[in-house]
Formats: sequence, C-alpha cells, structure tokens
Amino acid sequence: MDIDAVRGDITAQNVDAVVNAANQALAGGGGVDGAIHRAAGHRELQEACQKLGGCETGDAKATPGFGLQARWIIHAVGPRWRGGDKGEADLLASCYRRSLEVADELGAKSVAFPAISTGIYGYPSEEAARIAVDTIMSTPTQVEVVKLVAFDEATYRLYEELLSS
Ligand code: ADP
Repeated sequence: MDIDAVRGDITAQNVDAVVNAANQALAGGGGVDGAIHRAAGHRELQEACQKLGGCETGDAKATPGFGLQARWIIHAVGPRWRGGDKGEADLLASCYRRSLEVADELGAKSVAFPAISTGIYGYPSEEAARIAVDTIMSTPTQVEVVKLVAFDEATYRLYEELLSS
C-alpha cells in the first residue's frame, strides 16, 4: 500500500472514497464535515446520513459521494479529547481501522483521510498523526492508496516525518 501526505482540501481529492470527520448523529457540522456537506450537496447527503441512524464513536459508515469526485463518503466518528485517559487513542485508532474495513466492503482502492479529531474535537495533532500512520500501516486491507490530507503545514510536516521514518 502507498501512503502519501497531501496538503489540501479533503473535498478536492480524486479518490474512490473520502473519510469524513463526522459526529455521532451524522447530522453535519463544521470543519471537514461542513466542507464535505457543501461540496457533496447538503440535502442529498443529509438524507442519506439520516437513513444510517447515527454512528458510534470509533465506528464508520458509508454513503454515496453525490457531488464529490469521490464515489463514496465514509463517515467516521472520532473521539473528543478529554485528557487522554478516557480511551481516546483506541477510539481514534478504531476510526482508521473501521474506515479501511468499510472501504474494503465497498471495493474502494484509494481513500483520503482528514486528521480526524484534531479540529473541533481537540485531539493533539502529533499523537493523532502517529495513531493515523501506525493504524493504517498495521491494518490488513485491499486499499492500495491512502492519502493523509493535512489542512495546515504543521500537520503536513508531521505526516511527512512519520512516513519517512
Ligand atoms: P473533528 O471534529 O473530528 O476534530 P474537524 O473537522 O473539526 O474534525 O477537524 C479535523 C481536522 O481537519 C483539523 O485538523 C482541521 O484543520 C482539518 N480540516 C478542516 N477543514 C478541512 C478540509 N476542508 N479538508 C481537509 N482538512 C480539513
């Protein structure tokens, strides 16, 4: 599998599936979630999400990509950072693992991930980047290309360092 760090906007990635940093209600929100809803088409995506009946933290569920270049959106619910001793690391790892499992069920060969939980949910970027890279590398999957999409330069550098070591 190829894992690449990319600096940019998750909604512009030309991949089979993009991962959304969603919330348990799958009700839309700010950050990545807001950008994906705008780019995919708010109404259609909202309707598709409603049918999924929510999603537990650490789990992931798919909808079509609608207006996105990506054929599917995999909605993963990251943990809110609560100091680090509330199981956050396992839940974040679970998001990456479950997203790859859902990608396999869909037959997606290329997947783009945002830095789940590191925005509104407050997860420290460095730890989150390490969990992302470690989990993707250790999860058995048919996915051939993973893009780690960093919105800012600091996150991009973290990914580059982790991927080159
Ligand atoms: P969470 O609620 O899981 O923390 P956020 O969407 O608030 O999710 O943020 C997750 C990360 O995604 C943050 O590092 C944020 O800077 C980044 N981000 C925000 N918008 C985009 C976008 N359009 N494309 C890629 N990354 C984004």
